[in-house]
Amino acid sequence: MSYDTENIFAKILRGEIPCDKVYEDDYALAFNDISPQAPVHVLVIPKGEYISFDDFSSTAPAEEISGFYQAVQTVATQMKLQEDGYRVLSNIGANAHQEVLHYHLHILAGCDLGRMVK
Ligand code: 5GP
Repeated sequence: MSYDTENIFAKILRGEIPCDKVYEDDYALAFNDISPQAPVHVLVIPKGEYISFDDFSSTAPAEEISGFYQAVQTVATQMKLQEDGYRVLSNIGANAHQEVLHYHLHILAGCDLGRMVK
């Protein structure tokens, strides 16, 4: 599968579609999810063209990987999520119902998120 430059997050990165920006640096853009599943629901996306966690982890240069995860950490810190806790997740492919084919992490927080894995 090749990267589709017309996916919705690519359009957000190009500024063709607006977003409610939370944070941005050279490696990542973070914005509020349009359909939040928790009081805090932020999406963090890399600036490069990567389809999924799998694609990003296996093909991105180390500098981009490091920069991206530092940005995730910065978002969590700026939003003071560490105190009460938060969840980071990524849907990859069909079984996980990945909807947007540009790699993104969901950051969920602001309430008891329940147990996902026992
Ligand atoms: P996925 O299922 O791919 O992991 O999640 C995609 C997420 O993107 C969903 O939570 C959905 O609500 C969010 N989303 C889809 N389109 C838009 C959009 O145009 N703007 C924003 N901010 N979020 C979007």
